[in-house]
Amino acid sequence: MCGIVGYIGFNQASDFLLDGMAKLEYRGYDSAGIAVIGPENVIKIQKKVGRLANLEAIVKADPNEGTVGIGHTRWATHGRPSDMNSHPHASEDGKFAVVHNGIIENYMPLKEELIAKGYHFKSETDTEVVAHLLEDMYDGDFVGTVRRMLDRVDGAYALEIICADEPDKIICTKKENPLVIGLGKGENFVASDIPAIINYTRDTYILNDGELAIVTRDNVSVFDRKGNTIDKEVFHVNWNAEAAEKGGYEHFMLKEIHDQPKAVRDTFGTHISEDGKAAIFDELNWTADDVAAFNKILIVACGTAYHAGLVTKQYIENLARIPVSVEIASEYRYSNPLTDEKTLCIVISQSGETSDTLAALKEAKRLGAKSLAITNVVGSSISREADNTVYTWAGPEISVASTKAYTTQLVAGLLFAVYLGQLNGKMDPALGEEILCGVKNLPTLIHEIFEVDEDMKAFAKHYGFKSDAFFLGRAID
Ligand code: GLU
Repeated sequence: MCGIVGYIGFNQASDFLLDGMAKLEYRGYDSAGIAVIGPENVIKIQKKVGRLANLEAIVKADPNEGTVGIGHTRWATHGRPSDMNSHPHASEDGKFAVVHNGIIENYMPLKEELIAKGYHFKSETDTEVVAHLLEDMYDGDFVGTVRRMLDRVDGAYALEIICADEPDKIICTKKENPLVIGLGKGENFVASDIPAIINYTRDTYILNDGELAIVTRDNVSVFDRKGNTIDKEVFHVNWNAEAAEKGGYEHFMLKEIHDQPKAVRDTFGTHISEDGKAAIFDELNWTADDVAAFNKILIVACGTAYHAGLVTKQYIENLARIPVSVEIASEYRYSNPLTDEKTLCIVISQSGETSDTLAALKEAKRLGAKSLAITNVVGSSISREADNTVYTWAGPEISVASTKAYTTQLVAGLLFAVYLGQLNGKMDPALGEEILCGVKNLPTLIHEIFEVDEDMKAFAKHYGFKSDAFFLGRAID
């Protein structure tokens, strides 16, 4: 998750960019940045880790003048939150600037290829490959180059790109991450989500996967991946700003329930081999000896994550036959724990900042345990403290009652259990394959549950539940 915005028109682009990013705050934030095409078509990038206010202060002190620009609020997936890892990312020659929401899954081989060609990477992000690829493939035709670049990247993305050679357009495209174009008069807007543009226009094009839009001041042309023109229908937004933040859902919990297919897909992402036979954790790269080095596993967590721990215990004990104990983090430190250097300590925390879990992790490490974090926030204190981290990709969860954060923790726990069972040979490979196939099918199955929403409402009504209370998991409101 993150927010991207773009502006092309007759006003200062930075005004809309900063305002639009503020409206996307609910999508998560760890840094923010803008790129604006200024005098003599030079692209000026300003970016800063932390809250949007940090960037606003920079732009106020040193205005970024120009009427075409793109902006990004980041929710890090690759590389910790830092000034350098913030978006936009630029090509080395300064011709292209890119903002990206999502994950470029094949960024590693692309990065190696580009480094071998002499390109220098400034950030640890997956996104930066896009900027260098554009420079590498550029033949003077901005649109054509973007199309050819897209043939080379795999993964999920909403992308906005500007080019100093063609300063009168923004190119944007999407796959599996949202992108909306706001249609104005003599100006047009791009954003991840409607709240960013609702104060400027209510006429929009909602881009579909694979569509590419060329946005100029007076026109928006949309094409499919082959270059055929698509006749987009204007979607007129009737929602108020508050409903728009929730994607049209009545409350965040409902929205986040509906986010689950994507969150689950993003979480198993690269952890299942292409042939579906193996769980892969490149970030761990453990051997059978690494697994044999511990004789027990301790899972420590609080609240919902503790419950994910209880389920993960079943996964690991069944598949890898290693004894697992699950402790509530706030109690662990005071329990004279039987933790030693033959223990693997797994901590689970959505935010990566749960203070009891962090303290328990430090204590387990002090006692000699090897540690692994399962968390949703790149660069969080727990991810920095643990020896290794497995990320869930749920995006920010606003609702207090957890949904997608919990389900993605279960997916991460299950895949890790399969990984352990593979490595120590205690799991029947056919069973592992069957589980991985099941995990891949989860997004479809979750969608199927949504299809019976109306039946469930009718069922709840029949039994006297208020429909909302039913969906909130409470028997009676
Ligand atoms: N993968 C990119 C990064 O880590 C984009 C993350 C986002 O969607 O904010 O920088």
